[in-house]
Amino acid sequence: MSTNNIFSLNKEYLLEILKGWNEPSYRVDQILNWIYKKGEWDPEKMSNLPTNLRNKLKEFFSFDLPHIVDKKDAGNTTKYLLQLSDGENIETVLIKHHNRNTICVSVQVGCSFSCKFCATGLIGLKRNLKVNEIIGQVLIVQKELWEKGERISNVVFMGMGEPLANYDAVIRSIEILNSGWGFGIGSKHITISTVGIVPKIYDLAKEKVKVKLAISLHAPDNELRNQIIPINKKYPIEELLESAWFYANVTKRRITFEYVLIKDFNDKPEHANKLSLLLRGKNAHVNLIPWNKVKEYPWEPSDIYSIKKFKEILDKNGINTTLRISYGSKIRAGCGQLRASYLSMRRLNYEKNSD
Ligand code: SAH
Repeated sequence: MSTNNIFSLNKEYLLEILKGWNEPSYRVDQILNWIYKKGEWDPEKMSNLPTNLRNKLKEFFSFDLPHIVDKKDAGNTTKYLLQLSDGENIETVLIKHHNRNTICVSVQVGCSFSCKFCATGLIGLKRNLKVNEIIGQVLIVQKELWEKGERISNVVFMGMGEPLANYDAVIRSIEILNSGWGFGIGSKHITISTVGIVPKIYDLAKEKVKVKLAISLHAPDNELRNQIIPINKKYPIEELLESAWFYANVTKRRITFEYVLIKDFNDKPEHANKLSLLLRGKNAHVNLIPWNKVKEYPWEPSDIYSIKKFKEILDKNGINTTLRISYGSKIRAGCGQLRASYLSMRRLNYEKNSD
């Protein structure tokens, strides 16, 4: 059953409830306006609502949000470690770049896909996040931005977890992010990044809000991809690409392919040539990301010479490519790393205290 957390509800649902209370529909606009436009979610402070309605809201809904347990700033990146009501921790990252404020949200506590280079993969899946926990990440960061007269312009589902494995909550969150009554963020400023759950990519293509799709490819053939992304055995590259081109056709949106460069594993000219063959002539864009070291894995990040050479080959083949220098690496912003270090710190403290 739903928790009735106010931050998980859409306008339609709120209208139903308030209709049942014999309240006029403009009250819903006022409530949503307080939350998503003014950043005020204490019903006591919703000054244009009658007292009895404020009381009813408090009785009927939970206004519970994640809270910040740690925050690290490094240049353009701020990384938040948040705690949920059951004590679990997740990460959210805010990246400032040119005039954009991009928030990177988590969708699960941990992840079940065990990619062999990713810090979150080491945790395993604890649970899915609820809509209010996804929206809560955006509200908490947006609240800080409002105080500076700024707003979140872009949302990327690239934090912890796999968005297409928590599909319904992600789609409902996107409605709140995109709607005029919610955050009002345009669909082309919202990106879902997936490890490649093929049937869900077809589902996503049918959704009302046509978001941008990023695919974590990371290897140009199945033999290599199988070694680092176990789900590739179920959904191999050919099927994944077919679904990607379908998505591009239906939505008219260019697909981004993320490619993490790992030294001597997937960063050789032959890999760049193979990747070019897969993507040539397609509505595609490659995002090269130097791998962020995670000490539990044997890999090393590619060196700058190999990275440049790799990009050169893609450029020569007419593949649209950007090199994403990992803004967050200085503060361990690479996927799941802040949470991992926080947990080990907590464990150490615990061990110290129980000596
Ligand atoms: N599960 C989704 C989204 C979460 S990860 C997905 O797989 O796309 C977001 C991106 O960060 C993915 O492209 C992922 O492969 C990449 N990533 C994970 N660990 C990384 C690391 N240590 N260094 C660089 N990129 C990493």
